[in-house]
Amino acid sequence: MPFEPSDKLQTPIEYLKGVGPMRAKMLRSQVNISTFGDLLFFYPFRYEDKSNRKKINEIIDEENVLVQGKIIDYEVIGIGRKKRLVAYLEDDTGSMELVWFRSIAWIRKILSNAQEVQVYGKATYFNRKFSITHPELEKIGEETKTDEVPLFPIYPSTEMLKAKHVNAKTVAKLMAELLQQITAQDVVENLPLNIIQELNLLPRLTALQQIHFPESDEMLHAARERLKFEELFIDQMNICKLKLNKSKTPGHHFEIVGEYFNDFYKNDLPFDLTDDQKQVLKEIRLDTKTGFQMNRLLQGDVGSGKTIVALLSMLLAKDNQFQACLLAPTEILAQQHYQGIKKLLYAQDLSMALLTGSVSTKDRKPILAALQNGELDIIVGTHAILEPKVIFNNLGLCIIDEQHRFGVAQRARMWAKNTTPPHILVMTATPIPRTLAMTTYGDLEVSIIKKLPPGRKPIRTVHRKDNKRSEVMHFIKTEVEKGHQVYIVYPLIEESEKLDYENLEQGYELVTTYFPSHTYQVAMVHGRQSLEEREHNMQGFVKGHAQILVATTVIEVGVDVPNASVMIIESAERFGLSQLHQLRGRVGRGAAASYCILMTGHKLSKDGKERISTMVNHSSGFEISQKDLELRGPGNMHGTKQSGLLDYKLANIIEDSHLMSQAREMALHVLQQDSELQKPENAPLQRFLSVNKNSTNWLEIS
Ligand code: ADP
Ligand code: MG
Repeated sequence: MPFEPSDKLQTPIEYLKGVGPMRAKMLRSQVNISTFGDLLFFYPFRYEDKSNRKKINEIIDEENVLVQGKIIDYEVIGIGRKKRLVAYLEDDTGSMELVWFRSIAWIRKILSNAQEVQVYGKATYFNRKFSITHPELEKIGEETKTDEVPLFPIYPSTEMLKAKHVNAKTVAKLMAELLQQITAQDVVENLPLNIIQELNLLPRLTALQQIHFPESDEMLHAARERLKFEELFIDQMNICKLKLNKSKTPGHHFEIVGEYFNDFYKNDLPFDLTDDQKQVLKEIRLDTKTGFQMNRLLQGDVGSGKTIVALLSMLLAKDNQFQACLLAPTEILAQQHYQGIKKLLYAQDLSMALLTGSVSTKDRKPILAALQNGELDIIVGTHAILEPKVIFNNLGLCIIDEQHRFGVAQRARMWAKNTTPPHILVMTATPIPRTLAMTTYGDLEVSIIKKLPPGRKPIRTVHRKDNKRSEVMHFIKTEVEKGHQVYIVYPLIEESEKLDYENLEQGYELVTTYFPSHTYQVAMVHGRQSLEEREHNMQGFVKGHAQILVATTVIEVGVDVPNASVMIIESAERFGLSQLHQLRGRVGRGAAASYCILMTGHKLSKDGKERISTMVNHSSGFEISQKDLELRGPGNMHGTKQSGLLDYKLANIIEDSHLMSQAREMALHVLQQDSELQKPENAPLQRFLSVNKNSTNWLEIS
């Protein structure tokens, strides 16, 4: 937790009244609390509204209630797993039962010398009686301050803590004790006053007091807003500082647009660039001639034409006597890029190589040597390029395709491939929701290709259940007869890899019964084939010899066969949204009307249903990735897991996107006015940032 420049907050937790050495050890090992400060920033995860005080005859079924009464008797009933302690509680209006399945001995001890008690919990009506299972129980008379609050804080606990009787209530008591000792000197304000005023935020200490023991719903809301804003703002300060610093990192100076670029542009460009593509190239051109390092993210939906931008940028590097590399996440994609680029560059006097994991040591040697002595101009490949053995003579530009498939740390490794770090262009076809982009890629400049190249027809997406398979096959036949090609994709999920291959094989057999080999060619590619076999089959489809390609998700990204007009996705419910969108993007690249058919079984989970209907109803990658973010949560997206980003205690980038935007705006504003934070009004912020510098490893993020 944020370390504070206050001695009080660094006090070891055992010095707090109510915490002995034993409890201190438990708190440390179970919930990572070793100091006063750790405890202070240990927030409740929910609150119980204890204002619902009821007499027994007023209780309503399935409601949380607080009841006071006398324990008139108790007994242990049943054996084994059904063994339970039942106590009978009575007030002047009636009686009810309290039931415990665990901690029986402990509860019995409490009950044995208690008469008047107060209990809290959810009452259920059963056997013509109300009962509460595992109620919170308190003897009347041992009242503490914490019981008077309207919203009682409930803290995260572990079974271990509970077993040692450090439950939510105990933590609340400790918290009350702590808060009595903490003053505004211990919890220093870290936000500039003008921001607090402008956004009408609670002071820091008040917010902390109120998040633990809120006076009212309104105050709780205000406290949470303040603390969430603080989290996001501090994060954005770090990101924006990094971004500003980065734009000052010395970089290679691409002085000219030379012969390679111009010659290709004039003679070999297979189509006119779209305005967006031109704009992006202009941005890259401007970045690379400043003398500072470029760090740019190119976002463009599937099929928007990012590859040609990459190619032209690499020619720009060559014109300035630099090497360039293009990194792709899969072997198939790397190969396709390599072959595609090679074909386009046929007229250029350039040397190119492909480097992937499956290039043999023997073949690798000359490639590495040529790379090191500068004979190679362009290298295309997979993660293999990241290896330390791969040494460049003079790497000027590194392009990373389908960035979302790479971890953040991997991105950073390319920085070290030259004494002056190369310009970095990362490309992604999985558009990133705005809020996520502000954090994960917040330090990058962003270019966007909004419009697809002209002539694209929308892809019609439908959902079909398995029992409609023969109709689907019939439809495929009519498409194939028109001269079009078809993908049929099967899921591949690591845990049951074997089953999946069986599935794929069966699928293949099934397809060949509809499309017998004397009339049709059905190719199959999957990850278990040898590279040659896979490549051979893939090429068969690319060249149009095979009408149907049965595949696993190896074809997910990048594959480009404009004549393919139908994408069938089997067991579509097993795919994630961004995967489905990527797969769908394999069709709709040519002039013909295209279709995506999502096949599923009859039964679908709620999430599965939602994903399918999202695909049927939305075509824009941005809408889909927003939906994806909502369904899956930010932790699972875009390699954020490894990075430790978005690890907020309170803020949630989906629900709090308004706060996130505010935080970013404010952070940029502060830094524009006072980039070194030297103005007196920014002193608290400066101090806080320098003390908390190490909380995220910002350097790892390129
Ligand atoms: P992605 O952005 O998904 O990587 P690609 O670069 O593979 O997209 O381009 C998708 C298809 O669009 C390719 O067949 C490519 O040749 C074509 N394409 C790209 N730019 C244009 C353009 N300006 N006009 C026409 N077709 C284009
Ligand atoms: Mg691509």
